[in-house]
Amino acid sequence: MSLFNRRKPEKLGLTTNSSVSKPRSTDAPHGPLALELTRLLGPQKVLSAPAERLNYGYDAILVGKTPLCVVLAESTADVVTAVRVAKAAGVPIVGRGAASGLSGGAAPLVESLVISFTRMTRLDIFAERREARAQAGVITLAVSEAARPHGLVYPPDPASFRTSTIGGNLGENAGGPMCFKYGVSGDYVKGLQFVDVDGDVHELTRDAYDLAGLLIGSEGTLGFITEATLRLVTPPKFTRTLMSHFAEVGQAAEAVSRSIAAGAVPAKLEFMDRACTNAVEDYLNIGLPRGAEAVLLVDTDGEDLATVEEELALVEAACQQHGGSVRRAEGELESAALWRARRSISPALGRIRPQRMNEDIVVPRSALPEVVREIRALGEASGFHLVQFGHIGDGNLHPNILFDPRRESSEKVHELAYQVALVALRHGGVLSGEHGIGAMKRAFMRDAVDPVTLDALWAVKRALDPQERLNPGKVLPGDTDLPHGSAYARP
Ligand SMILES: Cc1cc2nc3c(=O)[nH]c(=O)nc-3n(C[C@H](O)[C@H](O)[C@H](O)COP(=O)(O)OP(=O)(O)OC[C@H]3O[C@@H](n4cnc5c(N)ncnc54)[C@H](O)[C@@H]3O)c2cc1C
Repeated sequence: MSLFNRRKPEKLGLTTNSSVSKPRSTDAPHGPLALELTRLLGPQKVLSAPAERLNYGYDAILVGKTPLCVVLAESTADVVTAVRVAKAAGVPIVGRGAASGLSGGAAPLVESLVISFTRMTRLDIFAERREARAQAGVITLAVSEAARPHGLVYPPDPASFRTSTIGGNLGENAGGPMCFKYGVSGDYVKGLQFVDVDGDVHELTRDAYDLAGLLIGSEGTLGFITEATLRLVTPPKFTRTLMSHFAEVGQAAEAVSRSIAAGAVPAKLEFMDRACTNAVEDYLNIGLPRGAEAVLLVDTDGEDLATVEEELALVEAACQQHGGSVRRAEGELESAALWRARRSISPALGRIRPQRMNEDIVVPRSALPEVVREIRALGEASGFHLVQFGHIGDGNLHPNILFDPRRESSEKVHELAYQVALVALRHGGVLSGEHGIGAMKRAFMRDAVDPVTLDALWAVKRALDPQERLNPGKVLPGDTDLPHGSAYARP
């Protein structure tokens, strides 16, 4: 059984200084860590000048500490070298993909070595096995682009798929609009390679103990995923789209539940509240219903047109039964126009305030109307502009707090985010659907997880990272809480 094959680092050709050429920056390496890494990896793979390191201190939401040094890894062997040098120096390590994360996962909270995976972009398609083997830095969209000529696709579709990496997606177990029907990133992993805290390399399959499953969603706190074998599928032949709008959020939630109970399994099921719809309409001016409390966007898809149409009819009937007005897209152009509204949420919100904090709670669908109401009330009471949207099929809601850091404090934003999290927990929900816990929600874990279970999670963490050097300050709350970052970054 190939559950846990340790590979000797020598076999990976641990990089030495033989290829050292001219320094990449005009400066000599800063500090002993950078010196040693430059000696072993060469100057082209090490950033040590302050200006070069600055960009690696934050992700899409959080400004953390500027790292001591950055390694631009090009292979698993480079990762092994970096991990071993950091171990010898006793320095923490933070893994980083495209840094599009929305929970502060890739932002170091203490002085650390950052390993960037964006140069690890090898991608092989094995069409006959319906598999892709991707290095950690492969851009999510690139997998489907490479698979499509073989009649295959890779379904996980975080809205950031043009920039996010496979390593980051697996680090967060990213989802997307299609996850209701097709599942999240982890559902497509057949096996992976990871580098542990000692610099040993492991090849994992999804067998007993499913260590690969443990790595997926662990946010770089247990080890570094260097390669993954991904499952590919044939794309659906037909897709149909509708938009429905409602006078109350409760009607929309009930329409979704009724559609599912009637047998529909929509490929996408997205929700926007009134504030979100108006923000998008202000931006696009495409005739979205400004007065609606809830807008649903729905796709059904499949191999057989009659079944796809039938599913859409089930959703349409359910929406109408619950007071929704329905507009079916006539053809691909209209469907694309409707989905453009959903894809435009980010730029639309960026016009209202320069920064936003993107929450990511999941609640039972039946609780959604009450949850949306309570969160809106919290927003109004706080004085912040707050909009809500999400993947309603699985109750995943993204309340976004919009703010201007020149006039509004990060602490107040964080406090409101905490109140939002408490609403989710009170209604039987969880802290994160797809963006992870990271630094942002680490302190909230005490409200979400009982002490005995937290101890068990810590036992797992310490088994794989006894000195807590892998992404410290993320996911699990500690005895002494680290700050949750110095400020929220512009997404
Ligand atoms: C506009 C926008 C829309 C978004 N939409 C979605 C969405 O629909 N669904 C969704 O799920 N997310 C979404 N996100 C959040 C983000 O894009 C995802 O979390 C994505 O998976 C992060 O990928 P990344 O490469 O940017 O990872 P990073 O942000 O660099 O890292 C994320 C985490 O993974 C860890 N990590 C990175 N690489 C590795 C590795 N090789 N091994 C182990 N750990 C690693 C990091 O340490 C960090 O904790 C969105 C973000 C933005 C800005």
